[in-house]
Amino acid sequence: MTPVTTNEAEFDRARAVIPGGVNSPVRAYRSVGGAPRFLTSARGSRVTDVEGREYVDLVASWGPAILGHAHPEVVAAVQDAASRGLSFGASTPAETELAELVVARLGGAIEELRLVSTGTEATMTAIRLARGITGRPLVVKFAGHYHGHSDGLLAEAGSGVATLALPASAGVPAPIAAQTLVLPYNDLGAVRQAFEAHPGEIAAIIAEAAAANMGVVAPDAGYNATLAEIAHEHGALLILDEVLTGFRVGPQGYWGLDQGYAPDLFTFGKVIGGGMPLAALGGRREVMEHLAPVGPVYQAGTLSGNPLSVAAGLATLRLADGAVYDRLYHVSAILQREVSAALAREGVAHRVQVAGNLFSVLFADSPARNYAEVQAQDAKRYAPFFQSMLAQGILLPPSVFEAWFVMAAHDDEAIAQIVDALPAAARAAARI
Ligand code: PLP
Repeated sequence: MTPVTTNEAEFDRARAVIPGGVNSPVRAYRSVGGAPRFLTSARGSRVTDVEGREYVDLVASWGPAILGHAHPEVVAAVQDAASRGLSFGASTPAETELAELVVARLGGAIEELRLVSTGTEATMTAIRLARGITGRPLVVKFAGHYHGHSDGLLAEAGSGVATLALPASAGVPAPIAAQTLVLPYNDLGAVRQAFEAHPGEIAAIIAEAAAANMGVVAPDAGYNATLAEIAHEHGALLILDEVLTGFRVGPQGYWGLDQGYAPDLFTFGKVIGGGMPLAALGGRREVMEHLAPVGPVYQAGTLSGNPLSVAAGLATLRLADGAVYDRLYHVSAILQREVSAALAREGVAHRVQVAGNLFSVLFADSPARNYAEVQAQDAKRYAPFFQSMLAQGILLPPSVFEAWFVMAAHDDEAIAQIVDALPAAARAAARI
C-alpha cells in the first residue's frame, strides 16, 4: 500500500537532503508560499500529488508537454527505445532522423543541428561558437531574458533568478560577468549604442525569440529582424533562443511567426525532447562546422542524443501537427479572455501579455515592454490568485514571472474547470 503522506511532510523530508527541497529553484513556492506540490503522476491535462489530489496543469513541465502528459504514443516510443538499450554513447539513426526533421521544419534557416541534453548547454555552446567564429569576447543579452544557468548568462536573468529577485548569481567571477552586456529589451537604440561603444568586441546578441521568463513580453514588430541587421552590420552573430518558444508557438517556433530575417544560430529545448532531457543548437553549415570534430570549437556530452530522449522528441514533433497548434491557440485564447474578464469584474488592474500561444498576467495598468516595467507591477496580487487556483485544483506556474503553458490535452472539461476557478481567484487577488 502507498504510505500516506502530505506535501508538507514530503517538503520537510526533501529539505533535509536537497537544498531548499527542490532540484530547480523555480519549483520552490518561494514567491507564492506553502509547500510545493510533490507529484506522483501526470496524464493528459492533469497531474496528481502525493496526497492523491488531482490538478489541471498549466505548467506542462515548464513547456515540453505541448501534447499533454504521458501521451500514449510518446510513452510507447520511449518504452520501445528503452527495450533496445538506455544509452550507447554512439551515433544512432534516430538522431539523424530528428536532425532531418528539425532542418526540414525550419525551411532552410538551419542546415545542421547538434543535440545536447539541456537548454543551458545549447545556449552556452552557441555563445562559445559565436566567440570561436568571431574571435571576440563580449555578448549582448537582454534584462529579464533567461538562457539557462551558465556563468555568463545569469546577469539580470528571468525565470527563477527573477522570482528570487537576484541581480545575478554568486559564484560568477566579475571578469566573466563583465563579458556580458545587459541591455533593456525592446530598445534598439541601446543595442546600437552598445555596438558603437565596443567596436569589434561583440561576438553575439542572444535573445529569447519572445521573452517568456519574466512573464510574457513579446518583441516589438520588427525587433528581432533589426537585431539580426545590427549584429550583421557589425560582424556579430544573432543567437535566437527558442528553447521555450520553439515548436510550441508554432511548427517553426516564434521565428516562424515573425520571420523575414536570418538568425545565425537557433537554440531549442523543452518541446524538442517531448519531456525527456534533450536540447539542440542549429544553424547554417558554415557556422555549425566550426564545432568539433570538424572545427576548433569544442563541445561534447556523454548522454547527448540519448536514444530515449530522441525517441520522445521524434514522437512529439511528429504528433505536433496543425490540429495540435490550432488547439493550443484555441485554449490559450479562451483562457486569456476569461482570466481578463474575471480580474476586470473585480476591478483588478491587469494586462494579459501575449506572444503566440504563450501568455501571462501582468498586474499593471499598462502593458510592459521590458524587465523594468514588468518589475514595477503589483506582483503581490499573484500569490493569493495562485493559492486560490491551487485550492480549486488548478496548478499555475508558482511565479508571476512565468508564462502559463497550455497543452493540446486541455479538453473542454479542463478548460471549464479552469474558467470556473477564476472568479474566486480574482476576488482573492482583489482583496490583498
Ligand atoms: N533558454 C530559455 C529561453 C529557457 O526558457 C530555458 C529554460 O527555461 C533555458 C534556456 C534553459 O534550459 P534548461 O532549463 O533546459 O537548461
